[in-house]
Amino acid sequence: MSERKLELERIVVVEECPKCGVMLKRKFSEGDYVGMPGGTCRFCGSRMYVKMIYKEHG
Ligand SMILES: [Zn+2]
Repeated sequence: MSERKLELERIVVVEECPKCGVMLKRKFSEGDYVGMPGGTCRFCGSRMYVKMIYKEHG
């Protein structure tokens, strides 16, 4: 509905598992920042963290 919401939906957050290196992309949500703890790795159970946040083209 709002332009701001549309902007947010184009932002991609990449989480990485420091143990096995798996990367996971998800949508940005407010308050996310690089280095913050993310979800649990589905392969090894370690805590993932936000590696990068970028805006998708188009
Ligand atoms: Zn892992």
